[in-house]
Amino acid sequence: QAKVAGRNTLRFFDPTMQEEISKRAKLESELFDAVKHGHFKLFYQIQVNHQQQPVGAEALIRWLHPQKGIIPPAEFIPYAEESGLILPIGQWVIETACQQLKQWQSHPATKALTISINVSAKQFRQPEFFDQVIDIINQYDIDPTLLKMELTESLLLNDVSNTIVQMHALGKLGIQFSLDDFGTGYSSLQYLKKLPLYQLKIDRSFIRDLITDKSDQSIVKTIISMAQSLSFSVIAEGVETIEQRQFLKSEGCLHYQGYLFGKPLPIEEFAQLVDSMQALDHPSHPDSALSQ
Ligand code: C2E
Ligand code: MG
Ligand code: MG
Ligand code: MG
Repeated sequence: QAKVAGRNTLRFFDPTMQEEISKRAKLESELFDAVKHGHFKLFYQIQVNHQQQPVGAEALIRWLHPQKGIIPPAEFIPYAEESGLILPIGQWVIETACQQLKQWQSHPATKALTISINVSAKQFRQPEFFDQVIDIINQYDIDPTLLKMELTESLLLNDVSNTIVQMHALGKLGIQFSLDDFGTGYSSLQYLKKLPLYQLKIDRSFIRDLITDKSDQSIVKTIISMAQSLSFSVIAEGVETIEQRQFLKSEGCLHYQGYLFGKPLPIEEFAQLVDSMQALDHPSHPDSALSQ
């Protein structure tokens, strides 16, 4: 018994663990500097309907590290959440996305596009969140019905009643909620019907092998009919092939996001993509410059 305890105690001084601890401390202090100096950028990934027309974009954050280059969110969002830095970062995301929406509103070709932002649990639950959102909407004078928030099942499952109150308050402003990574959590129908959701977003893991995997096919069909029976819209993420899109379309999923339509792009390139898709859609349209 003593030997086991001894071994466990020793494990705490494991050099790889020490390494892990100091790596984390370094990352957190670098992240703190990044917040201070604004070393972040939003990339935009297009969302389209069944006619391949752009309907909106998901804003996806990147850390522009002065030495390491572009760092993807999976590598720093968990630390940002742990350290609380997600609050200023999340605030910056909303503000930057709303600034972008404002610009889109002044162009006929982009004025109906929505922007979806990802909101983490800590951010959504802070008491000031609602007021921060209202302030930004007023400051940039945007149409709140074009702002979407992507929430995860784990966020919603904790503290359900407060979350619903918060969703209703934001929903009254016109903000729409999408349930991100749907199918990877534990939502029951009983509880889904209580949520003021606009949309379910089918997780990429069910789309990847959709064409060959029979169980992914039945999961996806179930999610689509679940969404339909609850009157939610449904969007699939991670659509990479025409076959996947065809399958989804034939089952009644009419919105898609994925590399088939475009990767997450810096705003200038995103504007060019939208421009070229709309030129395809309206070949006679004389001038659809969107990039200003
Ligand atoms: P998510 O919200 O589920 O975003 C979708 C992820 O799938 C993005 O990764 C996107 O680049 C990737 N993706 C989209 N289409 C395809 C495809 O066809 N194939 C493949 N292989 N991948 C595809 P990304 O940008 O690395 O973001 C990862 C996660 O980080 C996001 O997952 C989201 O949970 C989180 N995240 C991103 N931006 C923010 C943010 O501003 N705030 C918070 N709290 N979380 C964020
Ligand atoms: Mg998302
Ligand atoms: Mg997702
Ligand atoms: Mg995902």
